[in-house]
Amino acid sequence: MNDTAAITKDVALHEGKAKIIYSTSDPERLIQFFKDDASAFNGKKKGTIVNKGVINNAISSSIFRMLEKEGIATHFVDSPKEREMLVKKVEIIPVEVVIRNVVAGSLAKRMGIEENTPLKETIIEYYYKDDDLGDPMINQNHIRVFDLATDEEMETINRVSLKINDLLVRFFDSIGIRLVDYKLEFGRSPEGILLADEISPDGCRLWDKSTGEKLDKDRFRRDLGNVEQAYEMILKRVTEAIS
Ligand code: C5P
Repeated sequence: MNDTAAITKDVALHEGKAKIIYSTSDPERLIQFFKDDASAFNGKKKGTIVNKGVINNAISSSIFRMLEKEGIATHFVDSPKEREMLVKKVEIIPVEVVIRNVVAGSLAKRMGIEENTPLKETIIEYYYKDDDLGDPMINQNHIRVFDLATDEEMETINRVSLKINDLLVRFFDSIGIRLVDYKLEFGRSPEGILLADEISPDGCRLWDKSTGEKLDKDRFRRDLGNVEQAYEMILKRVTEAIS
């Protein structure tokens, strides 16, 4: 048994829509437990995506390993069980960072621009992480004035987000996928700011490069069918590329 396999789940600290966070026998480690529950439109639409928890843990773990190798500091430690990710304990910064490379989703709606319109440069947006408020969009002034993060933390978050975007766009391109947009979360730790949460088809728009087919949670949100198959396809391509 290695060190990480000996760490066990303790108390559920927080249950979100797709994951449960547990304390562990190690005060510096938490376990993210991935559920099959799926929700959209701020919880108004609910369902289950069969085996999603296992798939998202495997995809996220592979991507975090790859990002760590490329010099990005993440909360990832290990994936000792198929639904469990062992992570460093962080204090989540309540700002959801959305990175956009192509027009889609709420940006298409807000600007009245068709989905799939290319962007001349990457857009970073911030949303206040608060389910009761429906995660409203905010800007760096709100972040500063309401003490959600310091200017120094935001400077790091912006710089790291753009580096992550370069790495992820290139990685997904290499497996035949366009990384359209996605959400990142960061946390404070004794080691500094770490990329946290997950990177999976739940929080990314992933379009097949040759067919344009959506291979992400929009299949669930928009009732497009073959949801599980899309998640499986991403898992297969990601794990074939990252051993
Ligand atoms: O809905 P919208 O177009 O703003 O979403 C942009 C991207 O951020 C999408 O990839 C979506 O999956 C992700 N997102 C998320 N969680 C949220 C809001 C957006 O994962 N609460």
